[in-house]
Amino acid sequence: MGPQVEGKAVTDGIDVLVVGSANVDLVVKTSAFPGPGETVVGSDFKTYPGGKGANQAVAVARLGGRTALLGCVGKDPHGKLLRETLDLAGVDTEALRSRASVPTGVALITVDASGENSIVVVPGANATLGAEDVREFEHLFRAARVVLLQLETSLEAAAKALEIAHGFGKLAILNPAPAQQVPDSFFGMTDFLTPNRSELEVLTGRTVRTEADAEFAARLLLEKGAGNVVVTLGGRGALYLGRGSKRRVQAFPVRSVDTTAAGDAFNAALALGLARGLPLTDVLLFANAAGALATTTAGAQPSLPDLGRVEKLLGHKLGL
Ligand code: ADP
Repeated sequence: MGPQVEGKAVTDGIDVLVVGSANVDLVVKTSAFPGPGETVVGSDFKTYPGGKGANQAVAVARLGGRTALLGCVGKDPHGKLLRETLDLAGVDTEALRSRASVPTGVALITVDASGENSIVVVPGANATLGAEDVREFEHLFRAARVVLLQLETSLEAAAKALEIAHGFGKLAILNPAPAQQVPDSFFGMTDFLTPNRSELEVLTGRTVRTEADAEFAARLLLEKGAGNVVVTLGGRGALYLGRGSKRRVQAFPVRSVDTTAAGDAFNAALALGLARGLPLTDVLLFANAAGALATTTAGAQPSLPDLGRVEKLLGHKLGL
């Protein structure tokens, strides 16, 4: 028997179907950023698999969940690298399209001596993931317990994914990142909305400085139709608001070195916890611990924790 969340029955199959982006991060270090028209010498060029969709799918797999990524890469060496990395992590790539006409998405990341970064994202193949592609993999929605998506692919793809998930009565989690406004129709099809502070500001058009501001803004999203809202508050933990309930989880005290992919780890654990029917309090602690651990190692995918590390931080087994 599957879990019940807000009146929805969750059935067996894939734990979490992730609909989203896959990018290659091309990272260079330099002593100072180049100004307009200027050339500087950099060092330490590295290529990393990334993209919020791929990160979240890898995170679910590392936590022991069965997961598939519905997305799009180019038919090029970067696309091949991403597919291999996902396969190796145990993510089902049946629904990862390869399109010859476009390059794989890339993020060009320059890091200066103080650790500040400047990033240019070229969505490439991610932007071509359309409603048609999503519809083609309807059978995966049917097989999934939870559908998890972000906003790094087209809004049409996100809308179709929410529509299909909603139509099948599946639990849909929308991580509204990177920050952008979404059509109002999205909210009623979203069971869990997981903005960070700045995404919450963009979604609601309100300034969010204090926790009271966050709660007020999150309530606006509930009024717009979202089933539940979880605001991630970085080093201050997370705030959950449901219809008639509220929980506040404090961040785990960890030695943070790089917060990249903290949100991805948080969302993946949230999705897996819900897919496996854990009580909400445990789901929130699970997500909070996974997010915290992701900050203790540099990089995106290398920092995603496995279940053993999360359970160690929690101090008990989760019974997943
Ligand atoms: P995003 O990476 O999407 O901006 P946040 O920075 O809010 O998201 O982080 C997501 C979650 O990761 C937080 O809600 C928290 O659980 C955890 N987290 C982030 N930063 C820290 C930190 N410095 N210490 C402990 N936990 C953290």
